[in-house]
Amino acid sequence: MQEKIKMTNQKHKKPAIGIYGISGCAGCMLTVLYEECFKDIAKLVDIKAFPLIKEDSYKGEFDYVLIEGTVCFDEDIITLNELRKRAKKVVALGSCACVGGVPSMKNFLNKEKTMRFVYPVYNHLKSTNPEPIDMHIKVDYYLPQCPPSKKEIMEFVKCIATGREFSYHQCKDPVCFECRKRGNLCLLNEGKLCLGPITLGGCEALCPSNDVVCYGCRGPCKDANTGAFIELLKEKGYAEKALHSKIETFAGLQFKEALEPESEKRKISGWLEE
Ligand code: SF4
Ligand code: SF4
Ligand code: SF4
Repeated sequence: MQEKIKMTNQKHKKPAIGIYGISGCAGCMLTVLYEECFKDIAKLVDIKAFPLIKEDSYKGEFDYVLIEGTVCFDEDIITLNELRKRAKKVVALGSCACVGGVPSMKNFLNKEKTMRFVYPVYNHLKSTNPEPIDMHIKVDYYLPQCPPSKKEIMEFVKCIATGREFSYHQCKDPVCFECRKRGNLCLLNEGKLCLGPITLGGCEALCPSNDVVCYGCRGPCKDANTGAFIELLKEKGYAEKALHSKIETFAGLQFKEALEPESEKRKISGWLEE
């Protein structure tokens, strides 16, 4: 892993942070809370607000705000804009915030049917197309994965506590790179549809190392050639529909051009712009 570090000689006071969630499952915030990790985090930073565990009475500014979840409702956009105004830096926490995550699947489905399936009553909900948070506000750092790894969260916290610059693309290689390094046998050769070749590594090939295919939860790697990947797998006999639905599971919006070449060009996420 390549780390971009800029040391400063300044003595740092503890950065003031807030940890918030918009539409999500709270899994990312629970990862931060994970006991062994949370004790260390609480020592290094000043947690001013964390509505999941304490009353949100703090009205001041933050050095960093970590945000979990996908933009699914108008209320999410309001919350994001308020937090952006109060934070010097915004951190997208987890797949939903970074790449859209599972809720962003709705972009590829019948919206009416999906709403009926998920919510018995939904007329009062002002839903929007589910999108990653950087489609609405500027994001400074990304901690991808569903849920994000404790190791990566700790690296980030140590960097901000000591005034070092955190590079969120510390790993630029696809998941396959770490998978082969770990000596795993390739699941694609066993007829299992694995997205490792087009997915950003950094998770130490967590899923394939446990005999589970990669679903692409860390989003696309920088040089992902998704079109060629789809064509190659089609030649190998994989069904196009199965390929599409797997790619759409976590980060479909980031692969939209390859999935729907005819579609209107969207503003691409900052995730791929670095
Ligand atoms: S990234 Fe995963 S754990 Fe985090 S909010 Fe989304 S679904 Fe939940
Ligand atoms: S199992 Fe998946 S991640 Fe591992 S080498 Fe094969 S395609 Fe790549
Ligand atoms: S192997 Fe794929 S799905 Fe599993 S954690 Fe890594 S990026 Fe996510």
